[in-house]
Amino acid sequence: MQEICLMGGTFDPIHYGHLVVAEEVRQRFHLDKVVFVPAGKPPHKQDKEISDAQHRIAMTRLATFSNPYFEVSTIEVARQGFSYTVDTVEEIINQYGIKQVYFITGADAVLEILTWKDAPRLLSMTNFIAATRPGYDLSNLKEILNLLHPDILKRILPLEVPALSISSSDIRRRAKEGRSIKYLLPEPVEDYIFKNGLYALD
Ligand code: ATP
Ligand code: MG
Repeated sequence: MQEICLMGGTFDPIHYGHLVVAEEVRQRFHLDKVVFVPAGKPPHKQDKEISDAQHRIAMTRLATFSNPYFEVSTIEVARQGFSYTVDTVEEIINQYGIKQVYFITGADAVLEILTWKDAPRLLSMTNFIAATRPGYDLSNLKEILNLLHPDILKRILPLEVPALSISSSDIRRRAKEGRSIKYLLPEPVEDYIFKNGLYALD
């Protein structure tokens, strides 16, 4: 049976922080593939403006095409309404005929899992990998996780990854201010951003 990992994100834009985490997880857990799932309508980012799904998908494809283990799925953006991870995981499980998936979250996102829709059902289908992320304390996270029920705890696997202090918000801010975004994301994504005038001044 295939071992598949999902990497969810807004990917507005995708950057080396995302890619390094995905590759590290793939190798560490001997996974057959990592499926990048650009978020459709994230319920936790309702107050923020997000680039068009088509742009975010295109950038995710450009960033991942050179890695044979990486795939991009459009299932969330194709679905109507808000994107809930539990629905995405269920769809992927059915699509690939598997029983469970790995799901990558950065240290900032992992604690939110418990607030996600149908958290117990989601946890029963998923192993969450909590990747270290600069600026977010994973030792703190371990303390909090220890308060959780052992059944939940065994589903969450902390993983140290090479630290890259890169975020999409910072890249958007830099682009808007006319500052360089070079070396923070793959060159084809950088070119795409400029060709399509993303994140420029209004
Ligand atoms: P934004 O600043 O717009 O929130 P972001 O850089 O946090 O963007 P997301 O698309 O929100 O990117 O993140 C998708 C997933 O990738 C999340 O689980 C997040 O924690 C993780 N992630 C993003 N950047 C890094 C990084 N530099 N190191 C480790 N994990 C990261
Ligand atoms: Mg984020």
